[in-house]
Amino acid sequence: MGKNICGGCTLIFGSLTAFDKHRVGGYKGFIYELAETGLPTGKILGERPSTRRCLTVEEIQALGMVQNDRGWWIEELTEAKREQLERLKQKKVAEIER
Ligand SMILES: [Zn+2]
Repeated sequence: MGKNICGGCTLIFGSLTAFDKHRVGGYKGFIYELAETGLPTGKILGERPSTRRCLTVEEIQALGMVQNDRGWWIEELTEAKREQLERLKQKKVAEIER
């Protein structure tokens, strides 16, 4: 598991999926004229500015992400939960063996 430092907000993410989730908005692009059929005519009407940005810490938390003990943001439902479940399983096994 490599770490992904964001150049925008300097937060560290435990996975690329977690990193991708904190980047929202659309990329810069062109606005095309649409014909009555709904298909682009090929004429460019203008440019759409980039609305890409980083989520705030509050928004990241609202997605269900948590910080691990290294301070990296991880997806709670996948990585942290899996670890937790694994620990629970080991605990159960230990109780049975006792
Ligand atoms: Zn960021």
